[in-house]
Amino acid sequence: MLIAGNWKMFRGPDPAELAGLSAVVCPPFTRLRDCVDVGLTTYAQNVHWEPEGAYTGEISAPMLLELGVVGTLVGHSERRQYFGETDETVAKRVRAALDAGLRVIACIGETQEQREADETEDVLRRQLSVLAPHPDLLLAYEPVWAIGTGLTATPAIAEDAHRIVKSVLDRPVLYGGSAKPENVEELFGEPDVDGALVGGASLVVDTFAAICALAAAAAR
Ligand code: PEP
Repeated sequence: MLIAGNWKMFRGPDPAELAGLSAVVCPPFTRLRDCVDVGLTTYAQNVHWEPEGAYTGEISAPMLLELGVVGTLVGHSERRQYFGETDETVAKRVRAALDAGLRVIACIGETQEQREADETEDVLRRQLSVLAPHPDLLLAYEPVWAIGTGLTATPAIAEDAHRIVKSVLDRPVLYGGSAKPENVEELFGEPDVDGALVGGASLVVDTFAAICALAAAAAR
């Protein structure tokens, strides 16, 4: 069971208060160093595919590694929705990050419209088609309709999607979408749910710690 906290564009909690937690944190760029310094397993929220160059606003894998960052998210739905991220750019970022020695959590998931049109499986297959298995690649199934909305996939919906994902790419799959202490226990009971990518609930130390504790209990 792996728990990762995505702080999005929030300053987030004091990293020192998270020290000792068995989890990944994905803070904004300005807090990466603070998280590394207190010994947290620290991932970025994005990475560029080139090691350096004229790419204003981007950051490269060697730059992250130099800071002590050990992994990165790629393809979060907010990147796809608001910043023009495509399956092709996701593939380039994932490949470059893995080649450089970063671990990667690649995010996939369908929108509400796509689910209602019964396109979930096609969407997941398309998003996965650009990725190749790699020991340092994890996937996060994050239905867009459940991110930051308070709506959570039922355990059955999550399990169904995770099974599809693993049939295409056999890597561990985290669930993401309004995960909180009240709903993760049931989700962790599903055989193909291998952890959670937690957004809003990772910004509060006690809530995030509670999710980590439930993951540790579920893993036993
Ligand atoms: C996320 O940012 O990946 C996420 C799942 O957010 P939230 O938990 O707030 O829905």
